[in-house]
Amino acid sequence: RPGVSVGKEEDKMGIRLSNTTEVIFQDVHIPADHLIGEEGKGFIYAMQTLDLARPMVASLAVGIAQRAIDESVKYAKQRVTFGKPIIKHEVIAFKLADMDMKTEVARAAIINFLNTYYAVPKRNYTREAAIAKCFAGDMAVQVALEAVQILGGFGYSREYPVEKLVRDAKIMQIYEGTNEVQRMVIAGFVANK
Ligand SMILES: Cc1cc2nc3c(=O)[nH]c(=O)nc-3n(C[C@H](O)[C@H](O)[C@H](O)COP(=O)(O)OP(=O)(O)OC[C@H]3O[C@@H](n4cnc5c(N)ncnc54)[C@H](O)[C@@H]3O)c2cc1C
Repeated sequence: RPGVSVGKEEDKMGIRLSNTTEVIFQDVHIPADHLIGEEGKGFIYAMQTLDLARPMVASLAVGIAQRAIDESVKYAKQRVTFGKPIIKHEVIAFKLADMDMKTEVARAAIINFLNTYYAVPKRNYTREAAIAKCFAGDMAVQVALEAVQILGGFGYSREYPVEKLVRDAKIMQIYEGTNEVQRMVIAGFVANK
């Protein structure tokens, strides 16, 4: 419609294959018959959308973490120090165990959201959506950073994909409501139990 335009494209730290721009609305006229849903319920619809978008972010975070584990395992099997592949050093093996544990728990949080979402009779799923997003977002950053550590100097190089995973993971703590906001949402449920 006249008045809608796209602003500058952001030069981002991560998720660089997805463009992010402002959308500008200047004196835009929307005909009444274009109304979606009921008048006065826009905020509620926006909040309901977030409840569904947050578990989707959690799924992205789990995908990033799984890739971080896969890349770490591949590298740790081939890199030999002190006479054995680093995956045989307990410190590295335990890092991988922690990464796997955290990723699996985040996956379970998404399944917990889905169980609540599809529950019969229907239940509110705001808390479960926030828990999945917050836990998975924090987890993906931690796991991707551990992958950089396992790859050592190569982990810090753009020659290997794990530094990209850290940059991509970081946004999972920010968009669709920051993880501070998720904690506010969860705290609200805890306080009202
Ligand atoms: C790549 C990317 C894509 C995006 N895509 C979209 C999109 O498609 N649609 C859209 O609408 N938005 C989008 N956003 C915006 C995004 O949702 C916001 O950036 C995000 O919600 C944080 O808001 P803010 O940037 O205004 O930070 P602020 O609200 O200014 O927050 C700054 C810091 O203060 C903390 N903070 C703020 N208030 C409180 C409080 N009350 N208590 C404790 N801590 C607080 C925050 O957690 C954060 O750490 C996108 C952003 C990025 C970076």
